Amino acid sequence: MNPYLVERLQPFGTTIFAEMSALALETGAINLGQGFPDTDGPDVVKEAAVDAIRSGRNQYPPGIGVPELRRAIRAHQQRFYGLEYDADEEILVTAGATEAIAAALLALCGPGDEVVTFEPYYDSYAACIAMAGATRRVVTLRAPGYTFDPDDLRRAVTPRTKVLLLNSPHNPTGKVFTRAELALIAVIAQEHDLLVVTDEVYEHLVYEGEHIPIATFPGMRDRTVTIGSGGKTFSFTGWKVGWVCAPPALVAAVKTAKQFLTYVSSGPFQYAIAVGLQLPDAYFTEFRREMRDKRDRLCAGLADAGLEVLRPQGTYFATVDIRSFGETDGLAFCRSLPHRCGVVAVPSVVFYDDVEAGASLVRFACCKRTEVLDEACTRLKGLAR
Ligand code: PMP
Ligand code: GLN
Repeated sequence: MNPYLVERLQPFGTTIFAEMSALALETGAINLGQGFPDTDGPDVVKEAAVDAIRSGRNQYPPGIGVPELRRAIRAHQQRFYGLEYDADEEILVTAGATEAIAAALLALCGPGDEVVTFEPYYDSYAACIAMAGATRRVVTLRAPGYTFDPDDLRRAVTPRTKVLLLNSPHNPTGKVFTRAELALIAVIAQEHDLLVVTDEVYEHLVYEGEHIPIATFPGMRDRTVTIGSGGKTFSFTGWKVGWVCAPPALVAAVKTAKQFLTYVSSGPFQYAIAVGLQLPDAYFTEFRREMRDKRDRLCAGLADAGLEVLRPQGTYFATVDIRSFGETDGLAFCRSLPHRCGVVAVPSVVFYDDVEAGASLVRFACCKRTEVLDEACTRLKGLAR
C-alpha cells in the first residue's frame, strides 16, 4: 500500500472482532469472540420487519428516523427510567450505536479537545476520538473488581476536557457502574462543565445491580447524550438500529455529523425495533433471565476448565485471567487458541492503553446456545498446558 496511507491508517488497524471472527471461520472454531447471539430475537419483531418490507416501507426513512420508532424510544425511556424526551426534538435514530458514538464525538469534540473515558474501552471509542482529531485520556478500571480511583478521574480532567465518554453496563468487563460511582462522575461533569456521552447498549443485560442512566442524576439530563441500540436488546445485531436521546441542541449537533455519515439507514428494521421496544415488561425480564443463565453457565464452565473468572454483572461477556493457566500474553493466547483447542476469544489488552493492566485478560461471549457454551468449555478444559 501507498506509504502515506499505511502511516495514516496505522492507528486504526483492523478491529479485533474482524480478526477473531475471520480466525473462527478459517479454523472452524467456536466463536466466543465477537459478541453476537447465535439465535434470533422474538418472532413478532422479525415479522414486523418482514411486514415493513412487504408493505413497501423500503425507501429512505426521515433523517431523524421514522416517527413510530422515535415514539417507541420516547415511551421506552419513560417506562424504564422516568426520563422524558420529545420524540421530534430530542431523539435521533442512527445506524446502530456505532454511528451514534461516531456522530456524537465528531460533533462534540475536535483538535485540541480531550475526551475522558474508562479503560478498557470499546474499540470504536479510541478510533472515533482520533477521527474527531481529539485526544483521549483514560482512567483505568482495575481487575479484579474494576473499580476506579476517584483521584485518577479528577486528574484525567483538564481545562481541555470537553466530553466524558461512559459505558455502563460496560464492554468488555461486564461492570455495571454503581449509583455512587455515577453520582461522583455526575458531580465532576458539572464541576467542569463537561458534556457526557453515555453508551448504554447493554441496558437490559444487568444481572446484579441496577442500570441507572446517568441522565437521571440531578443536573445531568441537559448535558448528556444517551446512546441505545436495538441490536443487543432484541438479538438482531445485524439490523443496526441505534439511537440518541439528548436535549435539542445536542441532538441537532449529533444530527449535523450523522447526516454526512449514513444520512439514514435500516428503513424497514426501524419499524420492527419500534415493535420490540413496545413489548411488555415480561419480554425484558425473560430476556435478562435467559442471558443470566448463559452468563452463569459460561462462568461455571470456564472455572471448571481451571480459569480464574472475573464474573460480570452485566453484558454479553465474561473475562478470565489466563495467569491461572500459567500464561501471561492474552493476545498470543487468543491467536493460538483456535488452533490449540477450537475456541475463539478476544484479548482484552486491545481495549487498554495501559497494556500491563490488560495483558493477561481474555474476554469470552456468553450470548450463545448453551450447548455451544458447554462444548467450548469442554474444549478449554482439555487444553494442553
Ligand atoms: N457499544 C458497545 C459497548 C458495544 O459492545 C457495541 C457492539 N456490540 C456497540 C456499541 C455497537 O452497537 P451497534 O451494533 O448497535 O452499532
Ligand atoms: N460489540 C461487539 C463486541 O464487543 C462487536 C461489534 C463489532 O464487531 N464491532 O464483541
